Amino acid sequence: MEKTQNTTLQNPLDKYPKPPYPAQQQEFPGLASKMDPLPDHGEKSYVGSNRLQGRKALITGGDSGIGRAAAIAYAREGADVAINYLPAEESDAQEVIALIEEAGQKGYAIPGDITSEDFCQRLVEEAYEKLGGLDILVNNAGRQQASESIADISSDSFDATMKTNIYAPFWITRAALPHLQPGSVIIATTSVQAYDPAAILFDYAQTKAANVAYVKSLSKQLGSKGIRVNGVSPGPIWTPLQVCGGQPAEAIPKFGETAELQRAGQPAELAGIFVLLAANEGSYATGQIYGAAGGMGHP
Ligand code: NAD
Ligand code: MG
Repeated sequence: MEKTQNTTLQNPLDKYPKPPYPAQQQEFPGLASKMDPLPDHGEKSYVGSNRLQGRKALITGGDSGIGRAAAIAYAREGADVAINYLPAEESDAQEVIALIEEAGQKGYAIPGDITSEDFCQRLVEEAYEKLGGLDILVNNAGRQQASESIADISSDSFDATMKTNIYAPFWITRAALPHLQPGSVIIATTSVQAYDPAAILFDYAQTKAANVAYVKSLSKQLGSKGIRVNGVSPGPIWTPLQVCGGQPAEAIPKFGETAELQRAGQPAELAGIFVLLAANEGSYATGQIYGAAGGMGHP
């Protein structure tokens, strides 16, 4: 069915559920389908206009949250999309594949753990083969576990956060580079935590600052090759990451309350940025970080 864009004037304060949210916790990595209220990834609202016709995208963490919003938008803009996620997230991933196919595009599910260098290499090769090319790489998967004190962060947990948020984008990007032609783009999901770190996100915030440096440095390496590298910096967004250890349990009901827009953001509210950074319209943007944070943080 042909969808039309809702152009009615919308008050951002009232557009989505506001705190207090129902208290809830899930085991890592969590499922979007078990969240209450369900996040909006643009399933019912995103309308494409062929801005990415024929593109081939790989999105890590494409099963849920911000990555799912990007996957839906890319497919509705005409791209084929491969998503990576953890095996425990298969049901969320299958919902995304169905949405990509409903948009008339090819969707490929490639489960696996990106804390393994070996798997990262295989992920890129499999995505490249299945898609028949690669021109949009979105390093979006992330791990966030809150801790009151540095004393409570085990070396294993610190290591898993570093591997997921810093090593994996390095391994995946290095493997993808030989496949990327001029006009291709790389997008990283950073965070307001890079600029205004919370006390309880000591390890995670460092990785998000590293993601900003990844964008700034790599864009300088790849500019002369015609490959753009940019970052998206979300504020508090209603996703599984937050309800499976990303925030202390007691913080979930008031999540996003201190944002100027007085609520958590929804993944769908970031989709347009991922599209802009991938599309030809964004051709002069490289080394930039685009924010959507409800008035919090920088840039
Ligand atoms: P999410 O839980 O929906 O997505 C994170 C995804 O990361 C998971 O779906 C999972 O598939 C993937 N992942 C984690 N560990 C993995 C591993 N070892 N191997 C393979 N995949 C793994 O949550 P989200 O909030 O949409 O997170 C997406 C990105 O957004 C992350 O980089 C996160 O740091 C960033 N971010 C989120 C917020 C927020 O408030 N939700 C704010 C700023 C930045
Ligand atoms: Mg998920």
